[in-house]
Amino acid sequence: MLRSNVEELIKKCAIRFVDSQIRPLARKWDENKQYPLENMKKFAELGLLGLRIPKQYGGSGRGLFDAVIVLEQIAKADASTAVNLHVQLNASPLYIMLYSGEEVKKKFLPALVSGKVLFSMAQTEPEVGSNLTELRTLARSEGSHYVVNGTKSMITMGANADVHLVYLRFDDDSIGCLLLEKDTEGFSVGKSEDFLGMRGLGSAELVFQDCQVPEENVLLKGPGSLRKMLTMFNGTRVGLASISLGIAEAAFEEALRYSKLRTVSGKPLIALQGLQWKLADMAVNVEAMKHLVYSAAQDTKLNGFPDQFTSSAARIVASEGAVKITNMAMDIFGGYGYSKELSIERYLRDARGMIYVGGTTDILRNAIGAYLYKKNV
Ligand SMILES: Cc1cc2nc3c(=O)[nH]c(=O)nc-3n(C[C@H](O)[C@H](O)[C@H](O)COP(=O)(O)OP(=O)(O)OC[C@H]3O[C@@H](n4cnc5c(N)ncnc54)[C@H](O)[C@@H]3O)c2cc1C
Repeated sequence: MLRSNVEELIKKCAIRFVDSQIRPLARKWDENKQYPLENMKKFAELGLLGLRIPKQYGGSGRGLFDAVIVLEQIAKADASTAVNLHVQLNASPLYIMLYSGEEVKKKFLPALVSGKVLFSMAQTEPEVGSNLTELRTLARSEGSHYVVNGTKSMITMGANADVHLVYLRFDDDSIGCLLLEKDTEGFSVGKSEDFLGMRGLGSAELVFQDCQVPEENVLLKGPGSLRKMLTMFNGTRVGLASISLGIAEAAFEEALRYSKLRTVSGKPLIALQGLQWKLADMAVNVEAMKHLVYSAAQDTKLNGFPDQFTSSAARIVASEGAVKITNMAMDIFGGYGYSKELSIERYLRDARGMIYVGGTTDILRNAIGAYLYKKNV
């Protein structure tokens, strides 16, 4: 399904890196709930942090599809590392590319490419998750700056990012976003999250108490801002879907390998029809996910972004499919699959978390349902 030699090369490079630097350590990061900062430095050295950044800011100017190829491979070994990289590739920096002034671009984009600055993307609040129109974090205009107050929760890399892209409400009541640097007075990192899976995300609460943010750090504000932010989600969804795809592929490949090695009554598991059906379902689901995710990543209908239906379909099928496939993989492994000695239980815990990251799959169903209703009634 790859379309060029460059894409093949990107995939090979990602696989080599994952095999030597990520897979051997992924279990330790999970056990220790450790955010592996060293990965980001290595990604910078490999040029991966600049994959989507335009050439004039030091990047390679490639698109969403290349990001998907890389994230899928990384997620096959460690979903947390993949999500951390996803935020740098498909989330916050794209807002800067599209909506900031030149000075802000020059300040942050080359710094990201070299790994000096890393981003988080902060929408969720303790009392507001799915419905962004209800956000309570507030930015009040005061002369040439804004004063920000509020709290964000479950923020990936919240404890480690240098710059936070914060979704909030402005005093004109519009929902928008701005960049808040970690050394801003009044900013602090709150409690860290103790998730079931995805334990290497560095997830934490962010607290803003009278933080002064310069006007040029405001990226979107006023009428139409929320719509633009929702369009950006179409791209981030596909990045997240590629991570679920990677988790599912890893679980399937390991289950298939085990089914050839483990014998019952003298026969390998793969010779048993009941398990062949499971393996067949897994293979079919992985193939379906891959087609949806890759085709969504190639869809640039909306000014370079996939549309809402395509991106939501890819994310629902991949995220929910990964939960089913990791579950079936655990069955193939029997009791050993339930042991922390093997990776299968981690894949299942990580796949479960991917249902929520970036908005739940049920909320995507809402959006698709509303679209169908509008089109047909
Ligand atoms: C591993 C992980 C990483 C995360 N990383 C980030 C991050 O980097 N940045 C960030 O901002 N957030 C992050 N989050 C938070 C995530 O985006 C939210 O959990 C998600 O948007 C849902 O919000 P909530 O948890 O407040 O659930 P709620 O909004 O309270 O929803 C609770 C339940 O109700 C359902 N529901 C809500 N409204 C409706 C409706 N209208 N119709 C039908 N069902 C509905 C939801 O689907 C869900 O099942 C992360 C979460 C996890 C688990």
